[in-house]
Amino acid sequence: MSELRLFNTLRKEKQAFTPITPNHVGIYACGPTVYDRIHVGNARPLVLFDILVRLLRKQYKQVTYVRNITDVDDKINQRSLGLKISIDQLCKQTISDFHDDCIALNVATPDVEPRATEHIKEMLQMIATLIQTGHAYEAAGHVLFSVETMAEYGKLSGRSMDEMIAGARVEVASYKKAPADFVLWKPSDADQPGWDSPYGRGRPGWHIECSAMSAKYLGAEFDIHAGGLDLIFPHHENEIAQSCCAHETQKMAQYWVHNGYVTVNGEKMSKSTGNFVTVKEALSKHRGESIRYALMAAHYRAPLDYSDAQVLESKQALDRLYRVAGEAIATTPSAEFIDILNDDLNTPQALAFLHQKTKSVNKGTHDAAGEIKACAQLLGLLSYSSQEWFQFDDNMQDLTIEQIENQIEERRIARLNKDFSKADNIRQLLVQQGIELLDSADGTSWQRK
Ligand SMILES: [Zn+2]
Repeated sequence: MSELRLFNTLRKEKQAFTPITPNHVGIYACGPTVYDRIHVGNARPLVLFDILVRLLRKQYKQVTYVRNITDVDDKINQRSLGLKISIDQLCKQTISDFHDDCIALNVATPDVEPRATEHIKEMLQMIATLIQTGHAYEAAGHVLFSVETMAEYGKLSGRSMDEMIAGARVEVASYKKAPADFVLWKPSDADQPGWDSPYGRGRPGWHIECSAMSAKYLGAEFDIHAGGLDLIFPHHENEIAQSCCAHETQKMAQYWVHNGYVTVNGEKMSKSTGNFVTVKEALSKHRGESIRYALMAAHYRAPLDYSDAQVLESKQALDRLYRVAGEAIATTPSAEFIDILNDDLNTPQALAFLHQKTKSVNKGTHDAAGEIKACAQLLGLLSYSSQEWFQFDDNMQDLTIEQIENQIEERRIARLNKDFSKADNIRQLLVQQGIELLDSADGTSWQRK
């Protein structure tokens, strides 16, 4: 088996992965800001980093996966005002919806899911250290990070200072020493959420949250920091500046892994352009596993164009895999398959490998079925039995499993009583509703067509 290699944004090349502590990998991914339901673009990193974590768990004794929840943000304040509900209520509901979406997409719960509002103390400690060491300063109720005190600022994104200022659309504020300086702490009005601090009642900036929470659970230096491409600048650049200056380290994370955008007709899916599909809307049309498959069909660093047609193709691809491997007992993923994923998480090639394997099963090499199932499960696919998959109720207007099985029982009794015309009628009615019956010596099984 080959070693894991990951494209490291910091080095702009694929690198062999070696954890700082042998056999214990620490990985941090930036989680959602809980002001509204997540869309398919937000779901892509959830699925991809879930696969990366599954792959790491396969190869390392211990993996600590931390994915935070940002529950203090101006977008949350605005939406709670708009909905006329409390911030607490909004966050609670949005977190619950988020967890439902994760379950539907078979995204496993991280080992730690820290909430920003529960780590204000850690953030204030970090801010105090940055002020003491001359990396941050107080101005007009704010605390700002002084970018010129960090020689390597801009290394991750590879941007010049001018590009960074233009790219961040930085707020020009008279109290800033330099335009690129960013907020660590800002003052809160009486009606905004706030915490007491040496700088007055206020709330943290977004970047300091991830620096404080990753350090608490993974240490000042850890293995992998993951997130979407759009977080490289300014969010991750600022996380690095804060963490390295506060902890006097060279690196915050050894490997920075970024996923590409989900697009719709070539344009980035985003809240601001309005071309987004929420995971909930997608789930009203498609199965979670079909959406999951669609989200791994392109390489994680490439853009992925999302459409209903693409998810339907994914469903058909899953049908093929379920038909061949659904009832097999999962064995172990082959070294060949792990090698494919170890090469910078090449999921499209991993899926191609599975479909190639189905051909050998069809040719009579039956022991491949268990291997297909084990490999697919490493990707978080084939989590149902074949029977469950083909009986899955895609449309709420369809017959329920109970109704179908009652009909089959009635047909069985009719046949026992030699009432063949009644038995045939039941079959015809079921066929009209898309239910196919398969009679065998063991009885009657069924599937939706
Ligand atoms: Zn973050």
